[in-house]
Amino acid sequence: MKCDLIVVGGGPGGSMAAKTAALAGLKVVMLEKRQEIGDPVRCAEGVRMMKPEPEWISSEVKGARIYAPDGKSIVMSEDKSGGEVGYVLERKVFDRGLAMQAAQAGATVLVKTRALGLLRKDNAICGVSCLRIGEPLQIEAPLIIGADGVESKVGRWAGIDTTLELQDIESCAQFLVHDTSIDDEYTEFFLGNSIAPSGYAWSFPKGNNLANIGLGIQGSRSKPGEAMRLLRQFMRTRFPNGKVVEMVVGGDPCSGPIDSAIADGVMLVGDAAHQTDPLTGGGILNAMQAGILAGEVAAKAIAAGNVRRSGLQEYEDRWRDDFGKVIARSFQLKEFFVKLTDNDLNQLIGSLAKEDITKMDLPGMLRVLFRLNPKLLWGLKSMII
Ligand code: FAD
Repeated sequence: MKCDLIVVGGGPGGSMAAKTAALAGLKVVMLEKRQEIGDPVRCAEGVRMMKPEPEWISSEVKGARIYAPDGKSIVMSEDKSGGEVGYVLERKVFDRGLAMQAAQAGATVLVKTRALGLLRKDNAICGVSCLRIGEPLQIEAPLIIGADGVESKVGRWAGIDTTLELQDIESCAQFLVHDTSIDDEYTEFFLGNSIAPSGYAWSFPKGNNLANIGLGIQGSRSKPGEAMRLLRQFMRTRFPNGKVVEMVVGGDPCSGPIDSAIADGVMLVGDAAHQTDPLTGGGILNAMQAGILAGEVAAKAIAAGNVRRSGLQEYEDRWRDDFGKVIARSFQLKEFFVKLTDNDLNQLIGSLAKEDITKMDLPGMLRVLFRLNPKLLWGLKSMII
């Protein structure tokens, strides 16, 4: 089997890369190790996007409610709450829909096909070896896009350092819950070191009294089974009558921007390139945008006959320019906020009680918080003022 581009991974990043490159005229093969794209879902499914297809959406929310450890809360409007608040997707349908778009654009989609390693000839990458429904298969291509998620191997095979420090990975557990006490109108975030140390718990409503209820904790403060233990504890106190109908565990990269997302013959997109927002853990939109950029650059590189680093540098420059700076800023904020005590968090959220924050975005709210709590937030002065 021969093609111009192999995309490893059929998540949002991979499908957008495959679709974009196929539309630009490349012969593309996208590999997905699972037999069904989008299943199982390792995601709270929150996203704020323009014009999603109606069938992709479980529910639309009015905004975000954020709870301090002492139970006091603030409300942010949907359009100011960031990239994870607006819609709650049905990712099984969404991921499959994006893969269908890639196929309609001309890409070949191979499910139940696991990439096992890169093929090399004369020291250059020339394809991928894989296992397709139990049978070995070799696919030749001069260029590979690694969209293989948080546990990415493509990067490592190509010599890109994708190591994540324990403190830069959130260990997550999530239930799909049925409970009549779920707030169907707001995405809810619960802060507190006894709820989710250096992380947060969430309830993302999916309509009809269903919600993704989960939490993420900093890897360095976790141990085996800890996220699930804390989630059960959170359920007992907050949703004691909730009935669990699905459960998932997973990791979410929450680091600063990766040093390099390219190597000769390889580009990494999405979680594989640690492109999630480290403050929130949201990564769907960045993965999709990175996929589009990588797909465009792939077409140029193939046309120019240069798939070495120099031919792929445009992708590196464009994703850093597009959302890499936001990741760097969010990382600095995360590094500061994970060190706050519950008393600090109570003080910050309590201080907003008399402010009208419903129409403020995050930078605006940080400025108000700084004005009200200069001593506590002094360490963020250079970022805020
Ligand atoms: P993925 O969606 O992980 O896709 C990677 C694909 O590659 C998978 O389908 C996998 O099976 C496949 N694959 C892996 N290895 C191979 C191989 N060797 N061969 C072939 N295929 C392979 N983001 C948000 O924006 N909003 C949220 O509310 C949100 N909630 C989250 C909650 C949790 C608990 C977690 C863990 C993450 C959450 N995220 C959220 C992050 C979001 O899920 C990811 O950022 C997003 O899925 C990244 O897309 P991707 O295409 O890079 O990777």
